[in-house]
Amino acid sequence: MTKYILAIDQGTTSTRAIVFDHEGKAVASGQMEHAQIYPEPGWVEHDPMEIWNNAREVAGLAMARANITHQDVVAIGITNQRETTVVWNRHTGKPIYNAIVWLDIRTQEICHELAEKYGRDYFKHITGLPPNTYFSGPKIKWILDNVPGAREQAEAGDLYFGTMDSWLLWLMTGGELDGNDRGVHATDVTNASRTLLMNLETLDWDPEICARLGIPLAMLPKINPSASLHGYGRSRGPLPGVPIAGILGDQQAASVGQVCFKKGMAKNTYGTGCFLLINTGKEPVYSEDLLTTVLYKFGDKPAVYALEGSIANSGSAIQWLRDNLGFFHNAAETEAMASSVPDNGGCYFVPAFSGLFAPYWRPDARGGIVGLTAFVTKEHIARAALEATAYQTRTIMEVMQNDSGVTLKELKVDGGMAANNFAMQFQADQLGVDVIRPQILETTALGAAYAAGLAVGFWKSKADLVANWAEGQRWSPEMESAQRDKLYKKWNKAVTKTFDWAEDDLEEE
Ligand code: ADP
Repeated sequence: MTKYILAIDQGTTSTRAIVFDHEGKAVASGQMEHAQIYPEPGWVEHDPMEIWNNAREVAGLAMARANITHQDVVAIGITNQRETTVVWNRHTGKPIYNAIVWLDIRTQEICHELAEKYGRDYFKHITGLPPNTYFSGPKIKWILDNVPGAREQAEAGDLYFGTMDSWLLWLMTGGELDGNDRGVHATDVTNASRTLLMNLETLDWDPEICARLGIPLAMLPKINPSASLHGYGRSRGPLPGVPIAGILGDQQAASVGQVCFKKGMAKNTYGTGCFLLINTGKEPVYSEDLLTTVLYKFGDKPAVYALEGSIANSGSAIQWLRDNLGFFHNAAETEAMASSVPDNGGCYFVPAFSGLFAPYWRPDARGGIVGLTAFVTKEHIARAALEATAYQTRTIMEVMQNDSGVTLKELKVDGGMAANNFAMQFQADQLGVDVIRPQILETTALGAAYAAGLAVGFWKSKADLVANWAEGQRWSPEMESAQRDKLYKKWNKAVTKTFDWAEDDLEEE
């Protein structure tokens, strides 16, 4: 009888469940969006209970649409928006605060203090990451410092921390319904590597950093390999006894879905943000401006590392033009809008809504649209939003090639904005190398399915997965190099205009 893997992709804007077959084809899926909560400028939250309810609903929906029961599912994989932080009471199963989303910049002051007190390099050497609002550790500290009674409860051992994978794993294995701490409290090494609390060499929590942030070790999940038996579906859920055998942070999952298993292979995912990851092999490679992170760890095999260039806002700029400015109804319309004008009309849009991540690491940056004249139309601005991601990717690629010593010959792409032909052609033009989209676009969910399937022997080896990958579309550079560099130079000038916009920067002036 045909067997399947169920992947749950808990993303920033929505939660998806996809049923995959042995060829890596998506047989059926379900998807639900969840609310983005913006309590103050720069703050972004999600309701963890809404996400849990959505996850169970989409799992049931995908299975119903595929006409299968839990007996047809050999394993479950989870992939998730990384860094987003949930703290819950392990006895009641209730979160003590909304999830603080990776994009949220409320911890700017905490991060500034950590850098002043211990030095940026201290964190970079141990965790591969700079102290920045992006990561979970400062978000946990904020919750313990600001939610009344939280620190006392954490010290008494009553609270658990988790990224979305841990939160869902704990609930799916019985945490909520069976009560009294029966759920599995664990995460995988890729998610743990985004907390600013994990030691990249030992692949365990770093006790000194945790102490310096005032985070009790008892609230942290156990760190498992990405492909391993994390737990089994709770008896009263839709997937009783089914092993949850794969967990990967979303960008690492996309790399696995794109079969970036060899040193030097890279992919770029264009979603809410944009993330370029290159496989650097079994040793971590450190970089001043990029992140060093775990790419995956399959069972007992050694961990494989990556260098990552993260762009906080990419597709979110398109979403902002749609929702806040009402420029169009559907993100896909931007392709025709951008193509309807011969160029950007001199306009550059730097979507620094959450500061700027790599390679700038400027939490004080705020977005800007510059170069405006009365000539500029919404078509030019939509085009500028798409171009922005391509310029930022070029910057990251240049730093990455320099720091890793690898010259990229082509770039594999995926994510929502990779559906946009204008954006991908412009990306190829800016990079000067081919941009390739695979036939299977759901690489994030697929990567989680692959990890789960490897753990239970559904796929025997990575070679089985490589055989499933097939090219869908390719864009080759067409723009003349003088034009390409002129645009890029202006973009870089526009970036500098967005610095020093945080409240305290203004007070100091
Ligand atoms: P996430 O996993 O971060 O929620 P997705 O990979 O689902 O993101 O991509 C959604 C993002 O991609 C949205 O921000 C949306 O604005 C953008 N997007 C989707 N389709 C297109 C398109 N055709 N052109 C440009 N942007 C798009």
